[in-house]
Amino acid sequence: TVTHAEVQAQLTGPGQLFEIEEIGDTGVRTWKHAPGHFRALLEMSRFHGDKVFLIYEDEHITFEEHYRRAATLANRLVDEYGVAKGDRVAVAMRNYPEWVISFSAVLAAGGVAVPLNAWWTEPELAYGVGDSGAKVLIADGERAARLAATGVPLIVARGEAPEGARAFEDVLGEVAAEVTLPEVDLSPEDPATIFYTSGTTGQPKGALGSHRNLGQSPMTVAYGLMRAVAMAGRDPGEVAGVRRVTLLTVPLFHVTGCFSGLTTTMFTGGGLALMYKWDPEQALRFIERERITTMIGVPTNAWQLMSHPDFGKYDLSSLTTLGYGGAPAPPKLLERITQNLPNRAPSNGYGMTETTALAIGNGGADYHARPDSIGLPSAVVDVRVVDPMGTELPPGEVGELCVRGPNVILGYWNKPEATAQTFIDGWLHTGDLAKIDEDGFVYIVDRAKDMVIRGGENVYCAEVEAALFEHPAVDDAAVIGVPHDELGEEVGAVVRLVPGASVTPAELQEFLAGRIAKFKIPVHVWFRDGELPRNPGGKILKTHLRREILGS
Ligand code: AMP
Repeated sequence: TVTHAEVQAQLTGPGQLFEIEEIGDTGVRTWKHAPGHFRALLEMSRFHGDKVFLIYEDEHITFEEHYRRAATLANRLVDEYGVAKGDRVAVAMRNYPEWVISFSAVLAAGGVAVPLNAWWTEPELAYGVGDSGAKVLIADGERAARLAATGVPLIVARGEAPEGARAFEDVLGEVAAEVTLPEVDLSPEDPATIFYTSGTTGQPKGALGSHRNLGQSPMTVAYGLMRAVAMAGRDPGEVAGVRRVTLLTVPLFHVTGCFSGLTTTMFTGGGLALMYKWDPEQALRFIERERITTMIGVPTNAWQLMSHPDFGKYDLSSLTTLGYGGAPAPPKLLERITQNLPNRAPSNGYGMTETTALAIGNGGADYHARPDSIGLPSAVVDVRVVDPMGTELPPGEVGELCVRGPNVILGYWNKPEATAQTFIDGWLHTGDLAKIDEDGFVYIVDRAKDMVIRGGENVYCAEVEAALFEHPAVDDAAVIGVPHDELGEEVGAVVRLVPGASVTPAELQEFLAGRIAKFKIPVHVWFRDGELPRNPGGKILKTHLRREILGS
């Protein structure tokens, strides 16, 4: 059998595609041959020309068509909206092809793309627009209605444009056969994206990613794939020539969708099948019809696909790879995949918004040997586990997982304090508790951050608690994760009412509906008479509370 070290040496050696170099003398390694910025990636994608890039329902868009539309829109953004280098442009849509075209256009124009969560309510969207200082908004009809009040110039695809907004197709106008990108100089250090990630303080933080982060990430994903193949004792060249058609089961406004799905597909020249929203039955149909080879999403998606009553009725023989991450993948999932989809290559990837998606991954024989591990860091990623004082811990000991690499973002947009707390001496402090074994495999043990991951979607307890506190009958509240087979966790709330007040769970849920997105609303509400358990510092003891309420 080949060892990990042998495979790494072979794939990353001098002259190889995955050759590595250091960024200056920072100690941070980078993929030498990765595109340095988005425009280089976009130009590269043109080599795939007439191959189908985006699939949405019955629509098929080739790489060349995507390039022309994106380049045309980039010119319109510069000429008609005055978008200049560094200007933020927000994109708020479901997974439509226009999301991709808009994202590409903003970056090609030198702007900073700000993908907004499509499930956000009006106040949440207004926060994202205000915080990022977006100069232009590109939205679908449903989002446009929720964004109109911001007063920011609005471009609307698929759906009605509110008064004062312009239709996407009108802005695009005629798409010429020969379009050149607007002039703008980009370097790897320039900001490229702001993805909103909720903070423990309740207000979402803008994760500011650079063009380097963006260019490196498809190489990291491709390397992970090659490594898994090589470690299975097969020739990596065997997969290099296979056209991958990826079914994306998560939103493009998350890093998994945008980077592990979208930019990786642009780089490798495969197809990307998009769904308006996750639906296991549509996924099954899509896999059969489009001969999907790869499914990318959160563990819940793979689980629900196999649980669907019609699972056995579809031809899924084209599907060879299932990549999931963004939330804990129970070892039971691997067992189910091995039974239901034998001889496929499942892999579990760990990443965060702050690591531009994939940073650590487990696949192939390694995954079967260690199904509870998130695997080994990518070849350009360093990991370590530290104690609360920041001292590195020896193998086997549990501490906070820290990550360093060319994929780690620049920091948080306009939040110097949060940036200083999270990014220390070049290391990202993840807020995840982990241990690393003697062979370098990483295991996530728990989360230090107060957060519920519901089907891959993060719900920050503080944000839901803050919304609950706005209700006059609520005296105290604590939000906890409730284990759920398919979703991993569901949101639950323990609430103490103001003496004499009365309210039903349904009334509370209704109250929250206008304030926070639906996925954040607690489905379980427990009322409690006594004080909530707190430590001397006043922090609610959630582990206590969970044990008390759930017995676990
Ligand atoms: P996000 O920034 O929304 O992508 O969320 C990142 C968080 O999701 C991490 O800090 C982890 O807590 C969790 N996470 C991501 N991938 C995994 C994984 N493969 N296994 C366990 N937890 C994960």
